Amino acid sequence: MAGVAAANGFPVLNLQAYLEGKTVLETRALVADLCRQFYTLGWVSGTGGSITIKVHDDSIPKPDQLIVMSPSGVQKERMISEDMYVLSSGGEVLSKPCPKSYPHKTPKCSDCAPLFMKAYQMCNAGAVIHSHGMESCLVTMINPLSNEFRIAHMEMIKGIFGHGYYDELVIPIIENTAYERELTKSLSEAISAYPKTTAVLVRNHGIYVWGDSWISAKTQKCIVLDIEGTTTPISFVTEILFPYARDNVRKHLISTYDTIETKDDIELLRAQVLDDLEKGILGCTPIPPDDAGKEEVIESLVVNVEAMIKADRKITALKQLQGHIWRTGYDNNELQGVVFNDVPEALERWHDGGIKIYIYSSGSREAQRLIFRNTVHGDLRKYLCGFFDTTIGNKRDAKSYCEISQSVGVDKPSEILFITDVYQEAVAAKAAGLEAIISIRPGNAPLSENHEFKTITSFAEI
Ligand SMILES: [Zn+2]
Repeated sequence: MAGVAAANGFPVLNLQAYLEGKTVLETRALVADLCRQFYTLGWVSGTGGSITIKVHDDSIPKPDQLIVMSPSGVQKERMISEDMYVLSSGGEVLSKPCPKSYPHKTPKCSDCAPLFMKAYQMCNAGAVIHSHGMESCLVTMINPLSNEFRIAHMEMIKGIFGHGYYDELVIPIIENTAYERELTKSLSEAISAYPKTTAVLVRNHGIYVWGDSWISAKTQKCIVLDIEGTTTPISFVTEILFPYARDNVRKHLISTYDTIETKDDIELLRAQVLDDLEKGILGCTPIPPDDAGKEEVIESLVVNVEAMIKADRKITALKQLQGHIWRTGYDNNELQGVVFNDVPEALERWHDGGIKIYIYSSGSREAQRLIFRNTVHGDLRKYLCGFFDTTIGNKRDAKSYCEISQSVGVDKPSEILFITDVYQEAVAAKAAGLEAIISIRPGNAPLSENHEFKTITSFAEI
């Protein structure tokens, strides 16, 4: 068997051990799990339709990766990982399921196998699915003479790579044949004629659909998001939040002077200013004692806080006060949290898919929560499992990401996907073993071209 694999360029010396190894087993389990899920959704029926996924392995080039394929003859809702076929990248069967006892049928390699292989070879797919779903049959029946299905102005199009709401999605339609394998030729012709398509419809039958990234989204258990430049325009922070805090220091201190919270904020500022004076930091002035009177104390606090903001100091005393000023702003609707339009839909989709979502941002955790609490899209905190700020460590330090992995309780760091707009943060996350993607958003600083990270312009791509 090792010889067969070698002929396909598969670079694993001990194929049998690899087939029985963790990576292949996980993919088998994933396909079985998806079969059961898709059955529940009506995307595959008891025996109709099939799911195949490449065994994702960073040490093997994608064209050589093995393929796990669900068999025909086994009820999708009862599929288990032992039922899977494993094929070489060239389509040879490397491992087949054990026969089952009566009254079960013996699992067979799917009749769709040659079609799946075409999609893998022609489109460099990472996963290919064949569905007999009712909707995919109906769209081929709207116009029995049309050889393509076109749709625009449909919200869900944004979920398909390279498409925005105003774009037109075009999917070729091929005619059905008596036997599934006879579709191979027309499928490959359709892919050649529509090189950008990620699906082919089969009239009165169903759809073949493929993709390359959502396998990784499916195996990821956690997503950790940066805020500025990732979920939220940088300008919201620089042009709205910071000026709001700056302009409302005096008003906030006057109206809350006697509260325990503000007393605590003032205490912290006093300690910071004393420390700064000792170090000779410019712009700070001594704060008079409390008995000098409210007005005098506040006046001095304002001068100090303005100097701290001007110097863009990342200190807890300042961050804590700003957080409280913002909360007042959100409470009386002078502030509203801003996220990019694709964010709420993605949060909901990931959340529904069982993925845990966290925030890791340099703003204080209270400030983070406030941004997601009152947005135009409502309170988005229901999708979020937790917040991390720099008390866990610097965002450019790999150790911080190790800490986060420990805190969210994944088995291995690679189960976490971290999305940020800052290259150095992506590097640090990757060094800690996380998957990292760089977010390109309007208003972000330009990204240098020589980096090895995947980039996205919208969460819909994940
Ligand atoms: Zn079929």
